[in-house]
Amino acid sequence: MTTDFPFALEAPNQSPPFVDRNFFDEDLPLRDAAARAGFDDEAEQLSAFGAAYGAEEQLEAGRLANENPPRLRVVDSRGNRLDAVEFHPAYHALMTRSMQAGLHCSIWDHAGEAMSPQGHAARAVRLYIATQTEAGHMCPLTMTNASLAALRAAPDVARAWLPKILGRAYDPALKPWWEKSAVTLGMGMTEPQGGTDVRANTSKAAPVEGGYEITGAKWFMSAPMCDAFLVLAQAPGGLTTFLLPRFRPDGAKNAIFFRRLKDKLGNRSNASSEVEFVNAFGERIGEEGQGIKTILEMVQLTRLDCAVSSAGLMRFAVAYAAHHSSWRRVFQRRLIDQSLMRATLADLALEVEGATALALRLARAFDRAPDDPSEAAYARLVTPAAKYLICKSAPHLVYEAMECLGGNGYVEEWPLARLYREAPVNAIWEGSGNVMALDVLRAVSRAPEAAAGTIAKLGEASGLDPTALGLFVSPAALSERQARRFCERLARLAAADALAEGQAGLNEAYVAARLRGEGASQYGAADLAGAEDKLIERILPA
Ligand SMILES: Cc1cc2nc3c(=O)[nH]c(=O)nc-3n(C[C@H](O)[C@H](O)[C@H](O)COP(=O)(O)OP(=O)(O)OC[C@H]3O[C@@H](n4cnc5c(N)ncnc54)[C@H](O)[C@@H]3O)c2cc1C
Repeated sequence: MTTDFPFALEAPNQSPPFVDRNFFDEDLPLRDAAARAGFDDEAEQLSAFGAAYGAEEQLEAGRLANENPPRLRVVDSRGNRLDAVEFHPAYHALMTRSMQAGLHCSIWDHAGEAMSPQGHAARAVRLYIATQTEAGHMCPLTMTNASLAALRAAPDVARAWLPKILGRAYDPALKPWWEKSAVTLGMGMTEPQGGTDVRANTSKAAPVEGGYEITGAKWFMSAPMCDAFLVLAQAPGGLTTFLLPRFRPDGAKNAIFFRRLKDKLGNRSNASSEVEFVNAFGERIGEEGQGIKTILEMVQLTRLDCAVSSAGLMRFAVAYAAHHSSWRRVFQRRLIDQSLMRATLADLALEVEGATALALRLARAFDRAPDDPSEAAYARLVTPAAKYLICKSAPHLVYEAMECLGGNGYVEEWPLARLYREAPVNAIWEGSGNVMALDVLRAVSRAPEAAAGTIAKLGEASGLDPTALGLFVSPAALSERQARRFCERLARLAAADALAEGQAGLNEAYVAARLRGEGASQYGAADLAGAEDKLIERILPA
């Protein structure tokens, strides 16, 4: 007697794995933005990069690094203090590839004596791609890349560390930085009593011969296996930035003690620690009392990275949803051929088009800012607005993309569950939503003419009257209560402007759906001004 299996031996009507894809070639919004940044002659390298990060093996490393999160080893078997974090080999493989690609440093490759970074947009394209494979290991890469902006306030320290920061051969060993082929740097600002309000920091810095001794606690300090940390502490002259290396100049371990690793919602491949310093050696970076100004140089760059990375995460989510929908048949028809699914996918795609164009346009402003005051004004005003909008859009968008997969989307073996847990963090760290909105107001009130000039230009390019959108620059008329609205509108206008530069003609759909439309709260309801088919074709071109 034969017994039929209740399940077929091969599961029917499931989409194949989304692996061995080219994360550059298949991404038209990214390719358009890269072309606008003038990277046509780099297309071959970017294509190779996109293939490497879309490879099955690379995506599998991302899964393994998250399913096997890092572990803190406080002491060794004999009770000697270790303060070491152990990572799965997959995490090391991710770091090896991404450091080889220079994601932790490439803007400083040709910075010269003036320490003026270049190539933000070129790096942003790669960051956008790499984050789709695995977002957690972006944390040390982003912080290392940004750290030199703060270190410049202590030129001797910056010069000493620069060759190691530019090193491309990942070296995870816990040993003095000067013995390593390459280093990574982290940042410790947030204390138990306050993160946003760093003026409330109570860590103390006492001047000693050759440096300072730092004593205090940090509530969050990510990537604790970094070789040094930029830390805020109260010196005699006020809040000051310090560089705390894992090893003191005499080769002894520095007094940096990890209490525990945070048990986080997502971002699980990355370690985030609680830490104590007990007379830890530190070098002063910048003047005493100038700590916030110094560290903000770094934070401006990490905020750009948050926007770029969230745009990358959104891209992966929508590409995955489109891939699944083009295979899955429901009521005998492919989902992607059914009108309401098309409306949903197209609306999601529009959000990604705007986020990608805006993030890359912002990276270009960073490149142009040193020689062009109007680009510097754009970068100052739009950075917090772009971080606000893009990072806050990501969780909702990933959720809707997840739903396109039905029940599969909610299952851990499929990547959207991990992506969903990852998505909120870029909005929280490096300045949470309200803080970004308030920072936009600060930029307006400190330089109203520059802000007005930026906003007027954005309006011209996208054919909109900024005043009608509530974007009138009158510091007296702007209250904190309106900051979120102002910030969101500004970011939407900037995204429409960035899309207007492109050939795809999608700015009209964006303006109609996101600035003029009825403002439906869920994807799939917006009027897309006839751009639906084009938006869907551009997600995964044949
Ligand atoms: C996974 C992870 C890793 C992290 N890694 C690091 C790290 O490596 N180094 C580091 O220094 N920090 C790190 N952080 C900390 C992070 O930067 C802070 O959590 C964040 O800046 C917010 O600070 P807070 O938690 O103290 O919240 P609070 O400052 O208490 O803020 C709480 C809320 O109040 C809002 N708010 C603040 N001020 C105002 C205001 N004036 N008006 C209205 N609303 C306001 C904020 O937007 C926020 O939503 C990490 C956080 C996470 C989640």
